[in-house]
Amino acid sequence: MVSMSAVVFDGKQLAREREELLRQRILNLGKQLKLVSVYFNEDKTGQLYTRLKGEAAQRVGIGFEKVECAFDDDMELLKKRIKEVCERTDVTGMLIQKPPKKMYHQELWEQLVVAIDPDKDADGLSPERKVLPATVKAVMTILQGVPLRGKRVVVVGRSEIVGSPLARELVKMGMEVQNVGSGEVDLGAVTKQADILVSATGREKLITADMVKEGAVVIDVGEPKPDVDFELVKEKASFITPVPGGVGPMTVVSLLENVVELGQ
Ligand code: NAP
Repeated sequence: MVSMSAVVFDGKQLAREREELLRQRILNLGKQLKLVSVYFNEDKTGQLYTRLKGEAAQRVGIGFEKVECAFDDDMELLKKRIKEVCERTDVTGMLIQKPPKKMYHQELWEQLVVAIDPDKDADGLSPERKVLPATVKAVMTILQGVPLRGKRVVVVGRSEIVGSPLARELVKMGMEVQNVGSGEVDLGAVTKQADILVSATGREKLITADMVKEGAVVIDVGEPKPDVDFELVKEKASFITPVPGGVGPMTVVSLLENVVELGQ
């Protein structure tokens, strides 16, 4: 049997094209937009993402400001700072750069996101969000190029920032979706059923080639390390997103699209 290699998605290229469209849209809007990113100084990877978001905001003509916090900052004080940012009339949207679970307790994170005013919630983090979480929007945009009708989807990972809202969004589109987490006894048996497999766990190389259906579409949300064993899975899949250069750049441009949406 001749083995076929997957189409490798170029997230950098598509993100640049969407940035250009956004830059034009912002010029036509004739309004000054501003994004504020709250980040934790202990989270070095989060700081890198904050910088990338700032650079992309600058490229499309959105003002950008950073607010630094620390893990041991008093919760009430943190919430007050978030509320103050949201109340500023010069701020169109804000986000909190989510630290990995192992660095910052999930319960603290949940207390923080409810302090965000949904009207200023550019990353769709709060329960009353007006826009999709940027990563969910990024995956949905990537899937626009993929025929979805009648396809079975498996989303691995069920956090409130990626996995769960993505699964809900796909269900809304009429797709058959299975959303699984760490409790799955035989993950491979589930993922092998997927025509479209999305992994958003943060577990490096969790998805190996034997867990993937021949010809599947494989979307890797893992960052900074891939969830998917790229080199071997690409020999089996029909379409695959790399890390870096796949979902990541698409998330950044989706965030900026959200800012424009909130600013209109
Ligand atoms: P998270 O809050 O830690 O959630 C991880 C999810 O993965 C949980 O639902 C967990 O299941 C599940 N999981 C963990 N190990 C598993 C296993 N062995 N089998 C099946 N499921 C497992 O992480 P997150 O914030 O959703 O982020 C997930 C990944 O996406 C990270 O790598 C993060 O850096 C990345 N990310 C990327 C972007 C981007 O723009 N590319 C944006 C956001 C996040 P339980 O629910 O059972 O605990």
